[in-house]
Amino acid sequence: MKIFHLSMECYPVAKVGGLADVVGALPKYQNQMGLDASVIMPWYNKPFFYNHEFEVVFDGFIHQSFNMYQVQVFKEKSNALGFDLYLVKIPGLLDRESVYGYWDESQQFIAFQHAVLHWLSAMQIRPDVFHCHDYHTGLVPFMIDNCYEFSFLKGVKTIGTIHNGEYQGSMDWKMSSFLPHFDGWRSGLLDWNGRINPMAAMIKSCNAFNAVSGGYLQELFYSFQGLEPLMNQERQKAFGIINGIDMEVWDPQTDEMLKFNYNKDYAEEGKWENKKVICAEYGLNPNLPLFGFIGRFAGEKGADLLPEIVERSIQETNGALNIIVLGSGNQEIENKLKELQYKFNVNFAIDLGYKEYLSHQIYASADFLLMPSRVEPCGLNQMYSMRYGTIPIVRYTGGLRDTVQDISTGGSGLNFTNAGAEDAVHAIKRALHIYSQKDLMKGLIYNNMSFDFSWEKSAQNYLDLYNY
Ligand code: ADP
Repeated sequence: MKIFHLSMECYPVAKVGGLADVVGALPKYQNQMGLDASVIMPWYNKPFFYNHEFEVVFDGFIHQSFNMYQVQVFKEKSNALGFDLYLVKIPGLLDRESVYGYWDESQQFIAFQHAVLHWLSAMQIRPDVFHCHDYHTGLVPFMIDNCYEFSFLKGVKTIGTIHNGEYQGSMDWKMSSFLPHFDGWRSGLLDWNGRINPMAAMIKSCNAFNAVSGGYLQELFYSFQGLEPLMNQERQKAFGIINGIDMEVWDPQTDEMLKFNYNKDYAEEGKWENKKVICAEYGLNPNLPLFGFIGRFAGEKGADLLPEIVERSIQETNGALNIIVLGSGNQEIENKLKELQYKFNVNFAIDLGYKEYLSHQIYASADFLLMPSRVEPCGLNQMYSMRYGTIPIVRYTGGLRDTVQDISTGGSGLNFTNAGAEDAVHAIKRALHIYSQKDLMKGLIYNNMSFDFSWEKSAQNYLDLYNY
């Protein structure tokens, strides 16, 4: 079975968040299962492209509105990632440094999808499945069904995966001039509330789709930025498949980004050595329990709650803990956290920015990982933290519900219900109580490190979806 994953991100080529981790891992596991999975993504102006060797496999043009764009497709030569990687370069439109955030991103995403389908049609390459990740590639199922230019691909199975339903790519109908020519009477398939909505279009036109956890799938039926009626209409082809993690990339025993490697038999010692390094670097006392937060400063992640959580938990425990935050995003949150670092410099540290190596070091050295998320489609941080022997403290939502069971019910994490500082601080105090019981901590660390979050089971579920 030949599968093409279409995505804007893929680790280690270009990563903004969890989408990259999933697209960088799932195809590798699928190939190990005997499938033939490849990734197709845009060519960005990033180091990966200059550190690897490529061959040009296609050179052509696409028309968008009144403009003509060159399209070049590069294939990575070494297959070092465990799958074939194709990069689609559109000079002047898609060959930029960042993945997201440009004023013309709607056109960028349309052009990428158009270019991919144009290349495959021109070269008569027909996969068995197009696996479209998030709304950025959500127009593909519509395009292959309704654009004459791609009739060679008509009938190829299309699967959509919703990694984040908060973003749908809704755009004005005047953007339709950028789409390849299609039968006008089919335009209802693109529309939601008088605008082109690529997420809605994906759901309407694909063969089947999934959310990245069963818990999140259930939430989408009543909270999906206006698409709830569509969810109900299309519920017979909606599934929940939890993400796995790449057990090779995320392995504390071999992780080259760690100062000290360890496994579950030497977890306490290994974590302690890593913790001493981080604490020395950020002026924190390693003898105190260390709580970490890693993520985008966005409402979804509950990052706006962090200032109150930090202030209250340090004050109400008389400074009995340390907190380290790695992330960036909302400016107001960044400013508030900077002020708090100044105020509580012995107990609190922040590092603003995106730092892959530091995230690994925090997973390894923290005792607890905080996730006060409002919305969490799957969440990978809690799985990485467990793999590294760090106890997750999560709000009971989406994929966090499916992956973290509270200690009180036999699990080895901590759950809280309300997305507010009150509940989070209460959970932190519970964590301090646990931390004071060395044998309990030891057992929890061991249990967490013994969980199998690998992709095998979920990869099988995706295969079932492809056969749906
Ligand atoms: P998202 O909604 O942001 O995609 P996920 O939990 O699915 O959330 O995935 C987040 C991924 O991004 C994890 O691999 C996490 O370690 C990583 N990450 C988030 N913020 C940062 C950061 N500032 N520096 C390094 N890695 C980060």
